[in-house]
Amino acid sequence: MPKFVFDFTEGNKDLKDLLGGKGANLAEMTNLGLPVPPGFTITTEACRHYLEHGSLPEGLGDEVNRHLAALEQRMGKRLGEPGDPLLVSVRSGAKFSMPGMMETVLNIGLNDESVHGLAAQAGDERFAWDSYRRLIQMFGKTVLDIDGDLFEDAIEAAKDAKGTKDDGDLDAADFRALVGRFKEIVREHTGRDFPTDPREQMDLAVKAVFDSWNADRAILYRRQERIPADVGTAVNICSMVFGNLGMDSGTGVAFTRDPASGQQGIYGDYLQNAQGEDVVAGIRNTVALIELERIDKASYDRLLEIMETLENHYLDMCDIEFTIERGKLWMLQTRVGKRTAAAAFRIACQLLDQGLIDADEAATRVTGDQLAQLMFPRFDEARLADARRLTKGMNASPGAAVGKAVFTTEAAVRAAAEGEDVILVRRETNPDDLAGMVAARGVLTSRGGKTSHAAVVARGMGKTCVCGAEELDVDVKGRRFTGPGGVVVNEGDVVSIDGTSGEVYLGEVPVEDSPVVLYFEGRLTDSEGGELVQAVHRLMRHADERAGMTVRANADNAEDSARARRFGAQGIGLCRTEHMFLGDRRQLVEKLILAGDAEERTAALDALEPLQRSDFEGIFEAMDGLPVTIRLIDPPLHEFLPDMTELAVKIALAGDGADPQDRRLLEAVRRLHEQNPMLGLRGVRLGLVIPGLFSMQVRAIAEAAAHRRAAGGDPRPEIMIPLVGAVQELEAIREEAKGVLAEVAEASGVDVPALIGTMIELPRAALTAGQIAEAAEFFSFGTNDLTQTTWGFSRDDVEAAFFSRYLDLGIFGVSPFETLDREGVGRLIRIAVEEGRRTRPDLKLGICGEHGGDPDSVHFCHEVGLDYVSCSPFRIPVARLEAGRAAIAAATG
Ligand code: ADP
Ligand code: MG
Ligand code: MG
Repeated sequence: MPKFVFDFTEGNKDLKDLLGGKGANLAEMTNLGLPVPPGFTITTEACRHYLEHGSLPEGLGDEVNRHLAALEQRMGKRLGEPGDPLLVSVRSGAKFSMPGMMETVLNIGLNDESVHGLAAQAGDERFAWDSYRRLIQMFGKTVLDIDGDLFEDAIEAAKDAKGTKDDGDLDAADFRALVGRFKEIVREHTGRDFPTDPREQMDLAVKAVFDSWNADRAILYRRQERIPADVGTAVNICSMVFGNLGMDSGTGVAFTRDPASGQQGIYGDYLQNAQGEDVVAGIRNTVALIELERIDKASYDRLLEIMETLENHYLDMCDIEFTIERGKLWMLQTRVGKRTAAAAFRIACQLLDQGLIDADEAATRVTGDQLAQLMFPRFDEARLADARRLTKGMNASPGAAVGKAVFTTEAAVRAAAEGEDVILVRRETNPDDLAGMVAARGVLTSRGGKTSHAAVVARGMGKTCVCGAEELDVDVKGRRFTGPGGVVVNEGDVVSIDGTSGEVYLGEVPVEDSPVVLYFEGRLTDSEGGELVQAVHRLMRHADERAGMTVRANADNAEDSARARRFGAQGIGLCRTEHMFLGDRRQLVEKLILAGDAEERTAALDALEPLQRSDFEGIFEAMDGLPVTIRLIDPPLHEFLPDMTELAVKIALAGDGADPQDRRLLEAVRRLHEQNPMLGLRGVRLGLVIPGLFSMQVRAIAEAAAHRRAAGGDPRPEIMIPLVGAVQELEAIREEAKGVLAEVAEASGVDVPALIGTMIELPRAALTAGQIAEAAEFFSFGTNDLTQTTWGFSRDDVEAAFFSRYLDLGIFGVSPFETLDREGVGRLIRIAVEEGRRTRPDLKLGICGEHGGDPDSVHFCHEVGLDYVSCSPFRIPVARLEAGRAAIAAATG
């Protein structure tokens, strides 16, 4: 039979699966010899059994009896014994810290008799009755599900009756009266008396903890965070220590370093004569931890000593909860502490310098998401002190944005067209607000969380967003919102929002570039940038050293290519040629489409070719010596033509005088109109249907490369055919391209080797990759389209329309367009990698969808053995860091 109960002396920090985070760390501290009140942990396995069968596992009762008896013996008192009661807390603790789970119940074991014993032992009536009322209050709220306000209201009433606002003024008699009132509340709302049998109190609390695993809030949280539903929670039974025994007692929280900067020092809060959460509940003013030195020097010194022990043991910054009972310090919790992005980088390097961790470990202590946070523009910190802070919402999409408040999509679009910066302010957004969100610098909503429509869409667009700023009353009709203190912001008033912190400011706060970006740009050296930039520099260097994959850029002009190279790109993974057909060149594409015969078509192509060639030359120069993957034209041609409705209206208005060219154009637009352009005439299909189009592009590439070669350069073109579904498509284009390359080599006298490969972005391509590899020297996974075609989602339609609902329902924890869907899309990639390499062992493999810059997706790419990832220039440092971390993770298991 499995063991369901572990004494704190039996566990350790590596048993989080079984004992939960809290229990595992309580055991670890106990084994370190730190002063932890004795206790034991009921395992997650017992919880899983209970959830599955609806009853506690057989034998659990006996095991608990044995551990309780041992605890009683050790403490020299029995649970709830009238003369000198042992009291315990019942605390939930899953592997992951999880809001929505049952809260802790303190002081279990008190009843109408043992309260007198407690008073006598402590020599303090008030303390005993205060503890008893806390038990009924916490038990009522969390175990019996009674509205907590009822108890709070009763306390308020007691204070009012005394004419005070401070619960310090309530005396023993007041608390005793409150106990009576609380018991009435329990009877009124549950139809039974508050359970006075100590063991029954404990057992009910344990079951309630197990049941809370399936509370609505807990379920929702797990879905969103992708925590498996069947992990279960542990329960910790811990003997009580009392911070509410007078001014020589108290309770506190602390960090071993500053979680905002990483600086070593004394960070935390302390509250005298208080119990449990009082210190964070804001009921009385806490003092800074440093004050404890004055209040109780011996406990303070001991605490500092313990903090050092913990850091050296966990090899990381820890946060802790402690209580002092009449001058004796007790440790109640520790865990590796949460920290800001900047602190994560600094702390990793500090620990490295202290010799506590090695460079591999340091790199695993930071993440690409944290690096990305450090790269967003931000508000000038020096000026932030003077800024008028209005409120704080949720930090839904990072960055800093300043603009005039507008309240409708129309207003946003209008103002943006006039060159104004605006912030779109809404109660919540919906799909109709999309145009407004695109036009705005940032989005601010008063409702909704991190999976609300505004948050999802803003993140998808990389737009700054603060959502759920609940203190704001948004009046869309009145075109204004009201903030705390009645501050009114009318349309046109300037506001500043910080999507990284969630802060909202009145007026303009100046925005500045992040020093980390200045460093990547080469405008700041690592030694000029201070501790943070230096930490980034060191960890990036190490990641590069360890990475198995290289990082390339998605870039289609010389300027972006040069920037990408400064950011550390080792080539271009996706150069989109269609962007080169916009602007003035659109006319030429129109001519191509309208061409009546071969001659007209050739003329149009001949006019386009030199323009393309010069684009490519610039890119080859910027990426000299590095591979440049050029994708031949991909989108449907009607994207280059005027809008059908607009054109039809123009012709109708002109009547008989309409331009014949316009009429021809309209005819072409109608002919090319498609119901589902994403699945229509595009990609390789264009190359096969429109003679000469792909040849022109290949010629431009080959000639540009020949020119660069002649000028002493080292161009490395790779020609990529999009949207291939069958090897036959690729073979036809490959023949054509080979012919053009040979012609150019012959004419120029310069031989420029160019690889020819394809994108894998259709399920059929992935499933027939073994065949396709016969005609392809490389594969690049186009995971945007591959996600669209695997899920059958048209991204532009679905993301704004219903993704927030899907996230709320937990259908996925994160949009498959943000993070690669490993099970579905990933499975196709695995198949293609395996079968492609079987055909052609030296097949080069990369990814060029936006996932190439997403941390989790980068790890996936490393796992399946890709040679490179490619992403937008700005994401390159993130991908470099994650490529290194992925290799370290794989090597260290
Ligand atoms: P959470 O998971 O919310 O941190 P905890 O189980 O840590 O919940 O407990 C809530 C509060 O009660 C904390 O302040 C904790 O320090 C305090 N507490 C828990 N157990 C005891 C105990 N045995 N004696 C004194 N205080 C306790
Ligand atoms: Mg705690
Ligand atoms: Mg595509």
